[in-house]
Amino acid sequence: MRGLASFLAGLPFAALLIGPGERIAGVNAAAREMLGHAIEGRHFLTALRQPDMLEAIEATLRDHTPRKTTYHTSDAGRESTYKVHVAHVETDETSGVLVCFEDMTEREQAAQMRRDFVANVSHELRTPLTALLGFIETLQGPARHDEAAIDRFLGIMQVEASRMERLVRDLLSLSRVEGEERVRPREAINLSEVLGSVVYMLRPLARDSGAELVFEPIEDTAVPGDADQLQQVFTNLIENAIKYGGTGNRVTITLDRHPKDPALRLPAGVVRVADTGPGIDPLHVPRLTERFYRVDTHRSRQMGGTGLGLAIVKHIVNRHRGRLRIASTPGAGSEFTVILPLWSA
Ligand code: ADP
Repeated sequence: MRGLASFLAGLPFAALLIGPGERIAGVNAAAREMLGHAIEGRHFLTALRQPDMLEAIEATLRDHTPRKTTYHTSDAGRESTYKVHVAHVETDETSGVLVCFEDMTEREQAAQMRRDFVANVSHELRTPLTALLGFIETLQGPARHDEAAIDRFLGIMQVEASRMERLVRDLLSLSRVEGEERVRPREAINLSEVLGSVVYMLRPLARDSGAELVFEPIEDTAVPGDADQLQQVFTNLIENAIKYGGTGNRVTITLDRHPKDPALRLPAGVVRVADTGPGIDPLHVPRLTERFYRVDTHRSRQMGGTGLGLAIVKHIVNRHRGRLRIASTPGAGSEFTVILPLWSA
């Protein structure tokens, strides 16, 4: 058919036409990539193998009614899903069945992520809720007049309720940061000042955990930023360094300027938060910024963690057009580096 190749080439998705003799009369580049390079000219039954799709094509060839079906591929471990639209078409010269492939992979992955997220949140909330309900029942029943037990149980209930409160606060903060990710922050923020105030606030926690906190402020270093969010980034990183550092831990916070940072190709402010704790197995490092990912869930819960801290850090750093780097040597400690473009007047 004249013009068929250019018509198919103009479509923004994989497509092919089954023409006279039920043979494949035309295929565009995307469909060739997906189905193989030698399918043109072959009978569709020998070229396309998935039964659902073959059935839909056969039926549409017969009754000219449009149909939809799905097509799955697995290429180099990557699973893809397509919605396939099968429709009878007629031109002045010929008639046939047009088969178009709509790539649903990203949409399916997003839906799966949403389902996983809801399942995770529900699970995280259910654990403290179950504990709270159990203690309420005990307080109403067997422990009704036991003063010592009442005190102890109320203490535990407070811990569990605070855990839920922290989780809800982190969830809200994550959703706000995600919502603003495309809006560039515009205020000039002095990193040295932000770090100074975070370190000041976390000194009591460090003291209670037996960690030494080392920070030498340097001259003013301004970045375009959102003060609250940057405060949150460094609070999360320094708090983690204190929490997971174990005994005899030293947390060192440094701020440097790079005239031209290799990652950003711009003048940058570089903040490093290093601890001398047990470190993190390299296996876990790439996944630490996923929501609810923890190396040791039990330990994180014990420390009051929600598993959302580093996910929040990553989103805030992205919003600031910066980079987050995590390096760790098991047994020797971890280093979290935040690289932010400097303020240019
Ligand atoms: P959490 O609320 O569990 O602390 P985060 O997202 O802040 O959640 O951190 C995810 C996980 O990364 C933690 O559960 C912990 O296993 C690990 N982690 C984070 N910072 C450190 C650190 N400085 N040293 C060792 N492990 C760390």
